[in-house]
Amino acid sequence: MLVSTIAARAQVKPVAEYIDQVQALATRADLKTANDFIDRNHDSILREWIAITEINAPSGQEQPRAKYIEGLLRKYHLDDIHYDSAGNLIAVRKGTGGGPVIVFDAHLDTVFQPGLQIKATVRDGKVYAPGIGDDTRNVEALLATIRALNEAKIKTKGDLVFVFTVEEETTFKGVKTYVDQNKGKIDQYIALDGGYEGFTYAGIGINWYRHHFIGPGGHTRSRTPPYSATLPLARAIERIYQLTVPTNPSSNLNIGMLGGSEVVNAKASDAWFTVDLRSTSNEVIADLEKQIKTILDEEAARAGMTVKTDVISTSPAASIPGHRESYLVRMAEAVHRVMGFDPPITNAGSNNSSAALLAGISSISTGAGPCDGSHSLAENCEIEPFYKGIKKVVLLGVALAGVEGVP
Ligand SMILES: [Zn+2]
Repeated sequence: MLVSTIAARAQVKPVAEYIDQVQALATRADLKTANDFIDRNHDSILREWIAITEINAPSGQEQPRAKYIEGLLRKYHLDDIHYDSAGNLIAVRKGTGGGPVIVFDAHLDTVFQPGLQIKATVRDGKVYAPGIGDDTRNVEALLATIRALNEAKIKTKGDLVFVFTVEEETTFKGVKTYVDQNKGKIDQYIALDGGYEGFTYAGIGINWYRHHFIGPGGHTRSRTPPYSATLPLARAIERIYQLTVPTNPSSNLNIGMLGGSEVVNAKASDAWFTVDLRSTSNEVIADLEKQIKTILDEEAARAGMTVKTDVISTSPAASIPGHRESYLVRMAEAVHRVMGFDPPITNAGSNNSSAALLAGISSISTGAGPCDGSHSLAENCEIEPFYKGIKKVVLLGVALAGVEGVP
């Protein structure tokens, strides 16, 4: 059942009503059974989480990890398990009918180099391993969620679709392919990636550039001017950092890399620097880009040089008008509150959720546990809160897909 955004908005109730509804849901015997099952299986959940983490899965090389997960899914009596053309692993737990289709996504890939031997260690209530958090904690949360739902014999009205995606860390090929091929069949899309206490309901736009000043170059002792291309570079960077970068809408600007001549005794003929520009507003990004271009052109002209700009990557801000007050966002807030969180709800997500939003699908991103040091070898997660995070995913899935006996 696909509800149009406008119709859905008309039916949206105040958060307080969803809190009452979720509260009633959370006290049902079957939900208690699911939670007890999670609590009885802390050790096996941790072992499985570690086992999956130790299968390194660099973007584009997710198959060994996917195969392992497929092997687990095959034991769960699901209605459909298959791979799509991008290599995403998809598992469907069919509902009884009459409910929305809810997609849960966790990405399989990690940022670590092929061949890295990963060995997790547990100490002081934390588990340490590269990739343990991003995004293996959420992969494991989905597996544990399916087992808990099965153990409690919970039959949702709507289908729950579990998508283990490829290439989130690089090209978003996995989510883009999945959304493209299933657009009209998805009611709500939950990307589990990062997060614990709160969630995001919109995606931040991220544009990366490499700007070059191109000049004649020359030996240190050659006539000056012309100067080294590092001069307009320095002037431009100084001016770019004087631009006003708004905090509302949330925006950031960073110049992180630069380079010039390869040797000390030459004027740079090509001096370059990178710009990482982010905002939840595409208008802000466009405006800052225009101002940066003016600075580059002026400083190039002043030094008698030219500008060349390479686009490293661009990804637009993803938002749906009125989404903050949508059914999904209010229900997600209710679920977080019933779980005892005071959830930060932000519009600056940067993950698979953006691809769903850009396709017009109501989507949030959240996660199943607090972790630290993502994309580093020192990555770690707290263990105890993870079990609560899994319960949150169970409750979110049941609340969204609906269950018999609840209006
Ligand atoms: Zn991630």
